[in-house]
Amino acid sequence: MKTAGGMALIANGRLVDGTGAPAVADAAVVVKDGKVIYAGPARGAPEIPPDARRIDARGGTIMPGLVEAHFHPTYFDVAELADLDIKYPVEYVTILAVCNARLALECGYTAARSGGSLHNIDVWLKKAIEEDLVAGPRLAASGREICGAGGLMDWNPDHLKLGMDGLILLINGPDEGRRAVRKLVKDGVEWIKTYPTGDAAAPDTADHHTLCMTFDEMAAVVAESHNYHRKVTGHCRATQGIKNALKAGFDCLEHATFMDQEALDMLLERNTPVVPALQFELASIEKGPSFGMPQSVVDGHKETLEGGADSARLILKAGGRLGMGGDYGFAWNPHGGYAKELTFFVRHVGFTPMETITCATRTGAEIMGRASEFGTIEPGKLADILVVDGDVLSDISILEDRSRFLAVMQGGAIKAGRLAAT
Ligand SMILES: [Zn+2]
Repeated sequence: MKTAGGMALIANGRLVDGTGAPAVADAAVVVKDGKVIYAGPARGAPEIPPDARRIDARGGTIMPGLVEAHFHPTYFDVAELADLDIKYPVEYVTILAVCNARLALECGYTAARSGGSLHNIDVWLKKAIEEDLVAGPRLAASGREICGAGGLMDWNPDHLKLGMDGLILLINGPDEGRRAVRKLVKDGVEWIKTYPTGDAAAPDTADHHTLCMTFDEMAAVVAESHNYHRKVTGHCRATQGIKNALKAGFDCLEHATFMDQEALDMLLERNTPVVPALQFELASIEKGPSFGMPQSVVDGHKETLEGGADSARLILKAGGRLGMGGDYGFAWNPHGGYAKELTFFVRHVGFTPMETITCATRTGAEIMGRASEFGTIEPGKLADILVVDGDVLSDISILEDRSRFLAVMQGGAIKAGRLAAT
């Protein structure tokens, strides 16, 4: 992805730099050739040449671009899980994914880690974004996800003879786990996404207390992935699934819904980050029924929401790492609502806006393994910066409103926001 040449000064705003440090009133950020060279009080800023671009933050907030840590670019706001695999051909899903990537950037997400993608689309979407063919977040790709046969994601009945090839690699046993990882490595993914447990979405077959992979399968997937220097994550709701994932050496946990003290101790010992994705649960409870979601599924989401919020509080209080990401791409939780996750954590989980923003910026970059490049506004980092009209520390929900972005910058180039066209 190209960076902008020349210099720019962003001033007249409050700096929230993503490190968790107190905000700096009347701050300035100076950008040179796409990278930050100064971030701090305006009075300490270096001289800038007269031809430098000047961006007036209008008394608002200057903060790092957000990182969506659980992004499904190919989930096209489906109302039925089965639609994910069979409703559209790969050609159309690819176009939808391009649109979702542009939307995420317009929503202030300058980077995103894929939580799984149909047909390896995210690998090629990443290439198109990196080559500036299409606009979107800096991506980490996962491609198809791995699940045990008969588990949560194996929903097409055998008599339909459909398989699940576009969405999931189904495995039976450690050998097939290794085979699946080798295919994904060849496909070009960076993360191996797995399904160690079920979910409230499948109350009759693989609910949120059911395991969908054996420990041996998980350990084989981790060994093979690490051999190829790839990272492993997994959909972990059930307590035993969380422990299996930590013991197997997973690099991240999605959800980590039902933590107990032993799981917390294991998590902290390994410093494994967690992406809870809780707004999805609230949206399922509030809006699911209008899309025909059965009561048994809604009840499961209620239990998941409560358990997930308790676990997130435990992890934060104990000093663990949390990323913000939200499984957007369902009819009741559509693309574009990504920042609702942040509002949810402030209003319903009890995080401070500063804690939430740090999770959504610095920790997100750490999860992507790119904390030395972005995630905070500090000298030497890429100028992936949001200039927001308003004080996000007093009202974090401002970030849900795209019209409040003055600038969404990647590498110093303004890609979206009110100043993008000027
Ligand atoms: Zn997901």
